[in-house]
Amino acid sequence: MTECDPVKISERIISLFPGNFPEGRRSSDPFQILISTVLSQRTRDENTFAASKALFSQYPDCDSLSDITTDDIKYLIRPAGMFNQKAKNIISISKIIKEKYGGVVPEKLEQLLELPGVGRKTANIVLFAGFGVPALAVDTHVHRISNRLGWIKTKNPEESEFELMKVLPENLWGPINVSMVDFGRNICRPQRPLCEKCEFTSCCDFFKM
Ligand code: SF4
Repeated sequence: MTECDPVKISERIISLFPGNFPEGRRSSDPFQILISTVLSQRTRDENTFAASKALFSQYPDCDSLSDITTDDIKYLIRPAGMFNQKAKNIISISKIIKEKYGGVVPEKLEQLLELPGVGRKTANIVLFAGFGVPALAVDTHVHRISNRLGWIKTKNPEESEFELMKVLPENLWGPINVSMVDFGRNICRPQRPLCEKCEFTSCCDFFKM
């Protein structure tokens, strides 16, 4: 394994940015992980935390969330933005889980993808964080960095997910997401990455260009 091997670099990024699962999405309850991940879409971690905390203080589970209207929760989740759509999705998700799955979050990717507002990234986060299943959640950070490093050549996060699964072993799929997000926010930023602070310059296609 060379120093530029994706596995080696991934392990190094994980050790440099051990990255806890963001506050607000940290829970041992797959249902709360699912709902807080829906809340986290297109917003900052601190907003997700505020919205999740307010929501779960009054409606902590599938039962309580499936028997209400959007007006009951919109004001609670307002900090997360897009609160009308998110409230609608959260209530629909809760109803489906209650009626179709007996109140238990399903453990299969295909089942999660059928829930409103749940895309591949959200579903993969739930699989890994909620059930410990190897699942690779690819967001813009993971997509951008793995392309810059030259591990893959892809046009969008979904394509990256499939290509990265060929490059990285299963045991890294879950942990790499949060660590790469932190690496992407702090060093390999979308605009003007801090390459002078990066230890992977000799392995990086973007840096060599
Ligand atoms: S060298 Fe620059 S572009 Fe390449 S991974 Fe490091 S920070 Fe990102």
